[in-house]
Amino acid sequence: MAKKPNILIVYTGGTIGMIKDYKTNALKAFDFSQIINKIPELEQLNCTIQSISFDNPIDSSNMNTLHYKQIAETIEVNYKLFDGFVVLTGSDTMSYISSTISFMFENLQKPVIFTGSQLPIGDLRTDAKENLITSIEIACAQENQKPIISEVGLYFEYKLYRANRTSKINAEQFEAFSSLNYPPLAESGVHLNFNHYYISKAATSKELVVRKDLVNDVVILKLFPGITSKTVQSILNIENLRGVVLETYGAGNAPNEDWFLNLLKIAIKKGIKVVNVTQCEGGSVVQGHYETSVVLKKIGVISGKDITTESAIAKLMYLLHKNLSQKDFIFYYEKSLRGEISEA
Ligand code: ASP
Repeated sequence: MAKKPNILIVYTGGTIGMIKDYKTNALKAFDFSQIINKIPELEQLNCTIQSISFDNPIDSSNMNTLHYKQIAETIEVNYKLFDGFVVLTGSDTMSYISSTISFMFENLQKPVIFTGSQLPIGDLRTDAKENLITSIEIACAQENQKPIISEVGLYFEYKLYRANRTSKINAEQFEAFSSLNYPPLAESGVHLNFNHYYISKAATSKELVVRKDLVNDVVILKLFPGITSKTVQSILNIENLRGVVLETYGAGNAPNEDWFLNLLKIAIKKGIKVVNVTQCEGGSVVQGHYETSVVLKKIGVISGKDITTESAIAKLMYLLHKNLSQKDFIFYYEKSLRGEISEA
């Protein structure tokens, strides 16, 4: 008989593990072991579950690259002992966190599923139970004794997405995430249906490599009509700046005024990597499609194609560490490394 999958829950913080302080009405983190007590249904799953928690669980707004490293290391040291991982974080920055973790793990062969909730686990109408139970089911799901998912996913409100394709789109509704440029990997209804065609194939038998060195001298520069040269200049002149996610309009369009293009040119000449990402929820940057983006390509702006901003900043943090030449950097950035970008 096949052995029951062994799942590790990694609790980092967020609403899912919070409880209301009825005196102050504020939400505060509680001892994670209580989550299992709160969901006795977990006992019914055909797997064994263990959990581990950050010593000081945090709101996901407080996440930084040291926490990313802590999550990655927790999975790394337990990688051989468990068949799948469910990482609980707050939903606010979950797309950033999970996108970065997807780059940090090379040759992943096991599921790493991020989830959280909009309402605390103890709340009567909570979404936490469904999100947690189904995430564990997904992490356990196997075919021919191999995990069905062997990539970093994000499960929320009946859908499993590729994590590095998601964005948080709603602060109120249970359906809090979208992935407009890539279909869900699985949908949960009466049955849990996997969309096999869209799921990444497991890395061959290569060893897991965990890339923990991230560069955080990066910035997101969102354009808006009326942005001044003073603003752009001061951002591009930040000390030690290495990379910029330039959030442009539509299919990657930006002002073609001289002051703007000259500032970008100077930054790129200094070695700063500038990536063009659209402000739109869905669709792709196509540099050269409109006159307003032809020059961007010419001066060395990298096309983020249909990558999300969350994934774009994560990919910069990951790739900048490698000290690639400008040509190689553009090559690897515009290529899909973890399924985060669609290649034509
Ligand atoms: N503020 C919370 C967090 O991101 C919200 C949530 O858990 O969904 O940590």
